[in-house]
Amino acid sequence: MEKKNRMAKGLPAYDSVSSSMRSQLRFSSETGQIWLHEHRMLLVHADAHALMRRELIDALGMGRARGLLMRMGYVSGMSDFELTRLNPEITSDLQLYMAGPLLHTLEGIVKTTITKLEINRQIGKFYVEAKWENSWEGQAHLRHYGESSEGVCWNLIGYASGYTSAFMGRPVLCKEVACHAMGGSHCSLVGKPVEEWDDASDFELLTNHESIAEQLIGLQNQVVQLRSAMGKKTKLPSDIVGNSPAFLTAYELLTQAADSQINVLLQGETGVGKEVFARTLHEKGVRCKESFIAINCAAIPHDLVESELFGVEKGAFTGALASRPGRFERADGGTLFLDEVGDLPLSAQAKLLRVLQEGEVERLGGTEIYKVNVRLVAATNIDLKQLVGNGKFRSDLYYRLNALQINIPPLRS
Ligand SMILES: [Zn+2]
Repeated sequence: MEKKNRMAKGLPAYDSVSSSMRSQLRFSSETGQIWLHEHRMLLVHADAHALMRRELIDALGMGRARGLLMRMGYVSGMSDFELTRLNPEITSDLQLYMAGPLLHTLEGIVKTTITKLEINRQIGKFYVEAKWENSWEGQAHLRHYGESSEGVCWNLIGYASGYTSAFMGRPVLCKEVACHAMGGSHCSLVGKPVEEWDDASDFELLTNHESIAEQLIGLQNQVVQLRSAMGKKTKLPSDIVGNSPAFLTAYELLTQAADSQINVLLQGETGVGKEVFARTLHEKGVRCKESFIAINCAAIPHDLVESELFGVEKGAFTGALASRPGRFERADGGTLFLDEVGDLPLSAQAKLLRVLQEGEVERLGGTEIYKVNVRLVAATNIDLKQLVGNGKFRSDLYYRLNALQINIPPLRS
C-alpha cells in the first residue's frame, strides 16, 4: 500500500488523478518506445544521467551547467503541463496544478509534498511551499562534489518553474531554500511570480540560452588571425635580447597576441626571460594602464599558494590575522602572470580553473564573491603536456591556459 501524504488526505480527487496519470504510461516493446500519453519518454539510468551532469559542470563550469540544467527542467515542466492540460479527468485548477508534482514523482525525479499552496488563476495569484525528498539531483551532486553551500537541484527547480509558469500563464520562479546537498534530509522550495521576488535573475537563465560554441569559435578565430598575421618585421625592445629566427618568431607572435584577450602560455627554459615577455604582452595591449601582477608558483609553499592567489579572510586558518585580497583581485582589469605554473598543487589547479571559468574569486574562509576580469599569462619551463600525461596537471586547465602557446627558445639557439 502506498503511503498517502498530508496533501493527499485533503484532496479526494488526488488518487484518481494519480492513477489516471499512471494509466497513461505505456511501454511499447514492439516499437522500442515508452509513451506518457502522447509524449515519448526515456527510461535512463540515474547514474549515467548523473555522470553527464558532472561532465557538463566540468566542461562548462558551474554557472553555465546550472543554466543549461535549469532550462532542460523548464522545458520538461512545460511539456508535462501540456499533457495534464489535455487530461479529461482533471476538472479543477487544484487538480491541474497537483498533476505537475505527481508527474515529477512518477518520472522518478523526486517525491514532492506540497505544504502550502495558494492559487487563483483568475487574478494571477500563486504561492507554493513544498518539500522534496529523494531528489536524484541533490543525491548526485552530493556524491560527486560533497556538501554545497547552496541549493543544487537546478533541473528540478527548472521543472517546477516551467510547469507553474505554464499553469499560471505568467512567469513564476521557484527557488530552493534548503537542499539535501546542503546537508539536510530533504530539499525545500518556494515558488511565486517573478515580480514578487527581490532577486529573480534566475528566471532569465531559464529563458535565455547562451552560445558557448560561438564564444569558442570567436577565440579560435583570434588565434587563427594571430598566426596568419605573423611575418611582419619587428623591432625588439631593449630589454629583450635575442636575434635568432626562432626568437624573432616568438616575439612576433607575442606582439600580435597583445591586443587579444586570449590566455597565453609561455614555454621556455629558465633564464630565457619569460617574465619580460609577459610584461611586454601586457604593456603592448589594451590593459597597459592597469596592473601587471606576477607570482612565481614554485617560490611559494604549497599550503600558502591558494591564499596568495585567491586572497584570504581573517581567521580562515591559524596565521590569517587580517583579511587581504589575492593576486587575482589585485590584477583585476589587468594581467596576472603565473610563473612556473606546473608547480601548482592539484587543489589550487581546481580552484584556478573555477576562477577562470566563472570570472569570480572567493577568498579562503570567505563567502563573498568578487568579480574579476583578468588576462592570464602562464609560463613553464617543464613540458606541461607531460605533466598532464602523468596526472600531475589537469588537462582541462592546461587547455584553458594554452589558448596560445609561445615557445621561447634559449638565447644560444
Ligand atoms: Zn535540492
